[in-house]
Amino acid sequence: MPFDKTAAYIGLGANLGDPIETIKSARSAISKIEGIRELAFSSLYRSAPMGPGDQPDYINAVMSVETTLGPLELLRKLQAIETAHGRVRKGERWGPRTLDLDLLLYGREIIASEVLTVPHPGIADREFVLYPLEEIAPELEIPGKGRLADLVRKCPQRGLRVIEHV
Ligand code: ATP
Ligand code: MG
Ligand code: MG
Repeated sequence: MPFDKTAAYIGLGANLGDPIETIKSARSAISKIEGIRELAFSSLYRSAPMGPGDQPDYINAVMSVETTLGPLELLRKLQAIETAHGRVRKGERWGPRTLDLDLLLYGREIIASEVLTVPHPGIADREFVLYPLEEIAPELEIPGKGRLADLVRKCPQRGLRVIEHV
C-alpha cells in the first residue's frame, strides 16, 4: 500500500574528497528519487569532527523533503546514494567519510528497530544538526525530545559556522 505524503528531515555530512561538491551532488540525487520532493535546504556549515580527532572538518547541511516512501525504503535509498558517492563502510564509528546521510525525522514517528532509529539518536545534542534545522524549520517539535528552539538553546555551537548560503 503506498504511503501518504510525509515530511522527513535528512542530515548530510562529508569530510573526505571534495565535501562541498559531494553535499551538493547528494542534494541533487536525493531530490531526483522517485517519491521524494525537496521542501527546503539549509546553508552549508563547517563543523569540527566528532569522534577520532585526526580527520578533517565536516561540511554539514540538512534538508526537508516530502515523500511517499516508507521510512525503511527512504533509508535504503539514502544508503545507496552514500555508496554511489564512494562511501566505504569501515568498522570505525564516526570515522572520516565521503558522505553520511542520516534520517533525522520521519513525520512524527518514533521508530526503534535494529536498522533504523527515528528521531535520529544524536539529534538533540549535535550542533551541526540542530542549528541548520532551526534555519529551515524553527517551529519544529522533535517527537519525544521537545521543541527544537529549546534544544538549540542548550547546545553549544562548538565552532560551527555557516560557509555558504544556498
Ligand atoms: P551516527 O548515526 O551516530 O551519526 P554514523 O552516521 O556514522 O553515526 P553510519 O555508519 O552512517 O553511522 O550508520 C550505521 C547504521 O546506523 C546504519 O547501518 C543504519 O542502519 C543505522 N541507523 C539507525 N538509525 C539511523 C538513522 N536514523 N539514519 C541513518 N542510519 C541509521
Ligand atoms: Mg551520522
Ligand atoms: Mg549515518
